Amino acid sequence: AALISQMLVEPVGIVLRWYDELQVAQVSLARLVGVREVEPEPGDAAERPEGRAVRAEDVHFGYRPGVDVLRQVTLAVEPGTRLALVGPSGAGKSTLGRLLAGIYGPGRGRLTLGGAELARMPAEEVRSHVALVNQEHHVFVGSLRDNLRLARTDAGDQELWRALAAVDAESWGRALADGLDTEVGSGALALTPAQAQQVALARLVLADPHTLVLDEATSLLDPRAARHLERSLARVLEGRTVVAIAHRLHTAHDADLIAVVEGGRITELGPHDELVAAGGAYAALWRSWHG
Ligand code: ADP
Ligand code: MG
Repeated sequence: AALISQMLVEPVGIVLRWYDELQVAQVSLARLVGVREVEPEPGDAAERPEGRAVRAEDVHFGYRPGVDVLRQVTLAVEPGTRLALVGPSGAGKSTLGRLLAGIYGPGRGRLTLGGAELARMPAEEVRSHVALVNQEHHVFVGSLRDNLRLARTDAGDQELWRALAAVDAESWGRALADGLDTEVGSGALALTPAQAQQVALARLVLADPHTLVLDEATSLLDPRAARHLERSLARVLEGRTVVAIAHRLHTAHDADLIAVVEGGRITELGPHDELVAAGGAYAALWRSWHG
């Protein structure tokens, strides 16, 4: 349950900065909800997933030609299990998370979901299966309803309220002067950081993907708000496959599988006890963390 402590939590300053940028930029729906913007090449046969396992097979990826950020990445995440990615800053964890969420296609190798190649699925299909949750873009300028409907444009108000209730946000939502019509994300900062996180979680409830990629952020929430949010998050994660990019070791400890990412490669892969027994980089990290 302690898998992701204070996940999804962003500093207020970042929220405000994004508000400003979002007001001037035409930001696509895809970017706001963290899904792929690129559609498969026309002529590609659409693939349909059978099952929910997420696999990377000998995946290479770079943002620029000739500069590989990920190399020879192979792993499998079984349905309903949790994978934690750990490793130094710049190792490629967030990049791998984006690939596993289907946001970028691999330069080489295969990324599959239920045996179907993510790169050959329409964005809409990918979005129904997997979502990336990170520090950015939690609330944009518009009504609370608009913000929630990003996840499912056809959701009715009743569903929106149910989603808010599922993440313990119904009571403050009902207390808003204009309810779902309330403008949030304006310069006046209508929502607290914790509330913004709950809106992001409510979006996940609405989108209902079976797989989540969580890119952990640092917290400026007070401990009580953080604990509250963690309970809501735990409920949202229940029954789903989770890939958690962990910045702290206790996040990794409870995962079913830990992948150590160093220099764009997976250098260790296994459950906590196995990696500790193996006496490699993870074991060293674990020992030093324990003093
Ligand atoms: P981590 O999450 O482990 O800190 P990242 O995946 O963020 O690592 O970064 C891996 C490498 O890719 C770093 O060298 C980083 O500078 C580079 N990188 C990350 N995002 C981008 C991007 N959008 N464009 C170009 N380079 C990037
Ligand atoms: Mg990162």
